[in-house]
Amino acid sequence: MATMQSLIGLVNKIQRACTVLGDHGGEGFSLWEALPSVAVVGGQSSGKSSVLESIVGRDFLPRGSGIVTRRPLVLQLHKTEGGADYAEFLHAPKKRFTDFAAVRKEIEDETDRLTGKTKQISNVPIHLSIYSPNVVNLTLIDLPGMTKVAVEGQAESIVQDIDNMVRSYVEKPNSIILAISPANQDIATSDAIKLAREVDPTGERTFGVLTKLDLMDKGTNALDVLEGRAYRLQHPWVGIVNRSQADINKNVNMMVARQKEREYFENSPDYAHLAHKMGSEFLAKLLSKHLETVIRQRIPSIISQINKAIDEINAELDRIGRPIAADGGAQLYTILEMCRAFDRVFKEHLDGGRPGGDRIYGVFDHQLPAALKKLPLDRHLSTQNVRKVVAEADGYQPHLIAPEQGIRRLIDGSLGYFKGPAEATVDAVHLVLKELVRKSIAETLELKRFPSLLSDISAAANDALERFRDEARRAVLRLVDMESSYLTVEFFRKLQTEPEKNNGNPTGPNTDRYTDNHLRRIGSNVSSYVGMISDTLRNSIPKAVVYCQVREAKRSLLNNFYVQIGKKEKEQLSGMLDEDPALMNKRETLAKRLELYKSARDEIDSVAWK
Ligand code: GDP
Ligand code: MG
Repeated sequence: MATMQSLIGLVNKIQRACTVLGDHGGEGFSLWEALPSVAVVGGQSSGKSSVLESIVGRDFLPRGSGIVTRRPLVLQLHKTEGGADYAEFLHAPKKRFTDFAAVRKEIEDETDRLTGKTKQISNVPIHLSIYSPNVVNLTLIDLPGMTKVAVEGQAESIVQDIDNMVRSYVEKPNSIILAISPANQDIATSDAIKLAREVDPTGERTFGVLTKLDLMDKGTNALDVLEGRAYRLQHPWVGIVNRSQADINKNVNMMVARQKEREYFENSPDYAHLAHKMGSEFLAKLLSKHLETVIRQRIPSIISQINKAIDEINAELDRIGRPIAADGGAQLYTILEMCRAFDRVFKEHLDGGRPGGDRIYGVFDHQLPAALKKLPLDRHLSTQNVRKVVAEADGYQPHLIAPEQGIRRLIDGSLGYFKGPAEATVDAVHLVLKELVRKSIAETLELKRFPSLLSDISAAANDALERFRDEARRAVLRLVDMESSYLTVEFFRKLQTEPEKNNGNPTGPNTDRYTDNHLRRIGSNVSSYVGMISDTLRNSIPKAVVYCQVREAKRSLLNNFYVQIGKKEKEQLSGMLDEDPALMNKRETLAKRLELYKSARDEIDSVAWK
C-alpha cells in the first residue's frame, strides 16, 4: 500500500509539473501523455459531478442546469494522515481553501476567466488538489457533459466542440474511462457507453458506472447491466446511489449520504448479493487499484520519455550556452574562453583556414607595386628639374666633375615620394585586419550570448590594431629615411668608370656643366639609383608591415585586454558577461524544466523498484 501511494503521489506531482510547464498534452513532448488518469464522461445530468463528489466525500463542484463544466477539471486527491480537509488550486498555489463552497465559487470564476460569461468551452484544464484523510490518491478529470443540442446563447458548434474535447481526453491510451450512465435510462442510449465503445472497443480501460439506481421504476432493476449481461466490460460494473436533488437542497451531509448508499445496497432485495462490490467507496478503491497496475506498466516508458526530454533540453542548453557560475574565478575563466575562441577564429583567417588573409598578400603584390610605379619620378628627374636642383645645390660655383650635392638632393627628393605608398600599404593592411576582426567577432558564435563582452573584445582588438599600425608606420618611414641617410657609393663608382662617350655626345672637362645632355645623364643615373631603391623598398616594406602588424596581431592582439581583465573586480567581470535578456530567460526556463524532469526521474527511480 505504501508503494502504491507513493506511486500515485508521484504521478500527481508529475502531472502538476506538466501544467506548470504549460504542458496540456498538446503538440510536442508531453509527459501528460505517458501518465494514466481517470476521465469522467457521460451525458448531461447523468451524475458525473455527483460521482466525483462522492469519491471525494465533499461538495465542491458547480451545479446548475445546462453546461456547467466548461473547462476540464483535473482533480488530484491526496490522502493525508489526518487533520482537516483542504483544497488548493494550481493557479493560486498559496491559497488554502477549507471552505468547499468557496472552492465551487473559484472553479466557476476560473472557468469564466478563460471562457468568459459566454458559455464557451476551453480545453485548458483547471487544476485542483484536495487533501483529506478520507480519500485515496487518485487523479480524476471532470469533463463537460456530452450534449445533443446547444442552449440559448451558445454557438451551434458547442455540441461538436464538447465531443471533440471529451474525445481528446479519452482517446489517449493512458486514459481510464469512468463511463457514467443513469440507470433510469436505457443503457443502449447511453452517451458514455457509446463513446467508450468507440475509443476502447475491448473495454480494458473502461469502468462502467450506473447511477440513479434509486430512481428506477418500481419492479425493475439493473441486474442485467450490473452483472455484465447488457453490455460486457472487462472490469465489473459499479452501481451508485448519489444524493438526489432533494438531498442536496436539504444539505444532506456527504458522510451521511455514503452511509445511506451502503444501507441501500445491503437492504435491497435485488442488489444485496452484490453489496460488497457496489457504491462510491468501492468504486474509489477499484479505481485506485487499477491505476497502480497501469502506472507500474508505464514506468519504463515514462522514464525513457523523461530521459529523452532531458537530452533535448541539454542539447538546447549546449546550443545557447550553459549558465555561468557566479564566482569571479568562473567568470574570468568564461571571459578568457571567449577571448580564446575569438582569437582562434581570427588566426584561422590569417593563416588561411578561413578566407580574408590572402587580401594582405594582395596589398603587397598589387597595391604596393602599382603605387610605386605611379610615383611622379619622371617629372622630378626631368632635365628641367634636374637643372634647377643641381644649379641650386651648386650655388655660386658650378660643380667641377659630378654634381655631388645636386645628386644627393635629387635622390632625397625622389625618396620623399616613397613615404606615400609606404604609409598606404600600412593603412591598407590595417583595414584588412580590422575587417578580419569584425568577421571573426561575428563568427565566434559563443560570443553572441554576451553583447557587452563582444563589444569589449572588438574594441580591445581594434585598439591593438591601431597601435600596431602606428608602429608599422614608424617602421616603414624609417626604412625610407634610412635609404636617404646613406647612399650606396658602389653604384655611383660604377657609373664613374663607364666611358661618357657611350652617350655618343662627348663632353670634355671644360664643357658647360649645364648642357641638356649632361643633365639628362644625371637624371637617368639618379633614376636608376632610385629604381634600385624602389625594388628594395618593394621588398622591405611588406617585411616591416608583417613584422609590426600581421605578426603582432597573431601574437598579441588581446594581450592588453588580458592585462586589463586581470585587474578587474568580480562585479566588473559579471558586468562584462551581461547577457541578452531574452536568452537569459530562455536558459532559465530550460534550466527549470531540466531540474523538474531530473527530480521527476529521481523520484520515479526511487519508487520504481520498491
Ligand atoms: P452531471 O451533470 O453529470 O454532473 O450530473 P449531476 O451530478 O450534477 O447530477 C444531476 C442531478 O441528478 C442532480 O440533481 C443530482 O442530485 C441527481 N442525481 C445524480 N445521481 C443521482 C442518484 O444516484 N440518485 C438520485 N436520486 N439523484 C441523483
Ligand atoms: Mg456536472
